[in-house]
Amino acid sequence: MAGAISTAALPKFGNAMPTNPDVVIIGAGAAGIGAARRLIGEGRSVLMIEAANRIGGRAYTESDTFGVPYDHGCAWLQGPKSLPHLDVIREKGFTKVNHNLADEAFFVDGRPATLDEKAAFERAQSEIYEDVWDKGDVPAADVIKNRPFMSAAKTWVTMGHAVDMESLSTADVNSYEEYEVNYLVKEGLGRIVWELGQGIPVKLNCAAKVIDWSGEGVKVETTDGTISAAACIVTVSTGVLASGAIKFVPSLPPLKQEAIDDVPMGLFTKVALQFDGERFGLTDNNWLSYAVPEEKTGQGCYFITWPTGTDLAVGMLGGAYAWDVTSKGADVAIDLALETFVGLVGSDSRKHFVKGHMSDWHANPNVLGAYAAARPGRFASRDVLKAPLGRRVFFAGEAVAVPLAALCSGAHLSGEAAAEAVHAVLSVDGSCGSCDARGSAKQLLQEASE
Ligand SMILES: Cc1cc2nc3c(=O)[nH]c(=O)nc-3n(C[C@H](O)[C@H](O)[C@H](O)COP(=O)(O)OP(=O)(O)OC[C@H]3O[C@@H](n4cnc5c(N)ncnc54)[C@H](O)[C@@H]3O)c2cc1C
Repeated sequence: MAGAISTAALPKFGNAMPTNPDVVIIGAGAAGIGAARRLIGEGRSVLMIEAANRIGGRAYTESDTFGVPYDHGCAWLQGPKSLPHLDVIREKGFTKVNHNLADEAFFVDGRPATLDEKAAFERAQSEIYEDVWDKGDVPAADVIKNRPFMSAAKTWVTMGHAVDMESLSTADVNSYEEYEVNYLVKEGLGRIVWELGQGIPVKLNCAAKVIDWSGEGVKVETTDGTISAAACIVTVSTGVLASGAIKFVPSLPPLKQEAIDDVPMGLFTKVALQFDGERFGLTDNNWLSYAVPEEKTGQGCYFITWPTGTDLAVGMLGGAYAWDVTSKGADVAIDLALETFVGLVGSDSRKHFVKGHMSDWHANPNVLGAYAAARPGRFASRDVLKAPLGRRVFFAGEAVAVPLAALCSGAHLSGEAAAEAVHAVLSVDGSCGSCDARGSAKQLLQEASE
């Protein structure tokens, strides 16, 4: 790809903060960073504006809470081998764990499952995907057959897709491409995204309020002044778009607005429990789950134990259950996770508990959920959501990142794709403020039409 940056390193941009860049990128999460890197590689001037006081968005690692790197949002790096995230891991000497090899401790009625029970549970997990395969775009609940341990298997899927089976589109489930890599990284996936964002001009604590695309180019009114640019890339979550926090002038076409409503945010919440180093017979990077009764499908708190060797058991809640539990506050969620853990591992474990933490993306006004899930029957709306407006307002982010929707890698790649589209359009339209990239843009367009 002409001008693309193939390694983690970005050229030095200096500290110049363009006031009227070629492209203003709204949101400095994985998608914004992916877009910015690609545009800079093409010689474009960009400015990312970010409502929060840090870059990374839902990719966020910090070490203050537990004294070790902890990802509040994405933690598993899943996607193709070509991801620049892998360059960061290599160049920085980070420690990665291949998580395809993870085992699962499965409990039934509070005791470890027998081999036969575990085999039946594993069968149920793969049969879900057979059931939804080739079923068009309907609620997953309508096509999944009932088998032993199916409610436990469905609960996993609810955590993965952040919605319950009734709200899960079979087309969404089938849209994923197989990952070439599936890694946990000791230093944190948020840290990797942060590394990828270094050197990109960004205005923090600067929220877009109005995107005026009525004239040539765009004018973005922010909490810190107005920025004019030839085009913009909007990367905020569908939660933020649906909230109306950003006003479009002229307003979004009805189809676009419908598409936002068709791909709402689901919820996946992490409730991390720190212990004093005792392992309770559980191994590092392992899953810990249990047979959820039929009537409580989706209402489980499963764990990953001691990820990358930390003393954390990270509990996971998904879908309606996650919305319900998180609405009651962190203390309730931590108690629930601890009760569940103790119920599986034994009451002795309680005295080894140090402290807990609940992720709060549901209440974060810059996100308002975990990641998006298309409503059953509305999978095609992801494409409508992605479609640019008037050759100057482009959309990227995890919600439009098929075949890696909802993922950090997908968000990054969707940013790159939007950047290529913007670059091509600006080059053809002649709105090329700081580069002469017509040659490569023509090539891009040609490639796209082949
Ligand atoms: C708990 C949890 C666990 C997850 N686990 C995984 C995982 O293991 N692996 C994985 O691949 N993915 C995972 N994900 C999903 C992954 O984190 C996201 O898909 C990805 O980070 C989204 O990136 P994005 O750029 O699309 O959006 P965001 O990260 O949301 O970036 C958008 C940015 O826009 C900013 N913004 C919002 N409003 C405005 C405004 N008005 N003006 C300017 N800026 C604004 C936001 O602050 C944010 O920084 C997880 C998510 C959550 C919540």
